[in-house]
Amino acid sequence: MADLCISVRNLAYTWRGQVKPTLDIDTLTIHSGERVVLRGPSGSGKSTLLSLLAGVHDVQSGELEVLGQSLKTMSQHQRDRYRADHMGYIFQQFNLLPFLTVQQNVLLAVEFSNARRQRLQQAGVSAAQECKRLLTSLGISSELWHNPASELSVGQQQRVAAARALIGAPEILIADEPTSALDADARDSFLALLKSECARHQITLIFVTHDGSLASHFDRVIELNAINRAAAQEVQV
Ligand code: ADP
Ligand code: MG
Repeated sequence: MADLCISVRNLAYTWRGQVKPTLDIDTLTIHSGERVVLRGPSGSGKSTLLSLLAGVHDVQSGELEVLGQSLKTMSQHQRDRYRADHMGYIFQQFNLLPFLTVQQNVLLAVEFSNARRQRLQQAGVSAAQECKRLLTSLGISSELWHNPASELSVGQQQRVAAARALIGAPEILIADEPTSALDADARDSFLALLKSECARHQITLIFVTHDGSLASHFDRVIELNAINRAAAQEVQV
């Protein structure tokens, strides 16, 4: 059995100002190297769960371990560092810095992480080389590399966000509806690229989508409402 990548027990999360929890998850385990898709209706808490796994928010109650480390005992700053080193995160709103160029956006992930720099060094490639390789394989032509990110189309920005998440091979790739702005052809090649990068570096892939047709690309489908007791309560009311 592969090592545990994510281990959740009794994880509850209530947004400030709300009475009921958005999430109340008994158990969730994801093994290293697994490719899972997390599905659920809009508003069911998919993005909330991803941001907890990535240490964006405090663990309010329950246990959450990532790569054997408890996020609960870490400060916000420690979690930010942990995420920079170990997780690539493609946000739903992809969060590129609009005034930086495409290349600068990607390289930022390396500048913020010793671990990513070391992994590139061990692989014998420079950050600039790896940035070019990723952008090329994601179909971002070199003419765009020095343009501000804000000048790219939404679909192109999503692919730049993927390159930024993947550079320096973090152990975990978290992708929050990254294909929503892509047409079917671009979506398939984007998914193929994510999968091959994850296989190449043994990256655990946690992918959120509401697109049911993508399930066959993954090892396992996790239906959020099936593991979220908060959703069950919602139905009974
Ligand atoms: P999904 O990604 O499945 O669409 P979200 O995790 O974004 O769902 O949201 C689930 C619920 O969490 C929302 O209905 C809302 O009540 C709450 N929520 C999400 N983001 C915030 C926020 N920034 N502030 C307050 N409540 C939020
Ligand atoms: Mg969401």
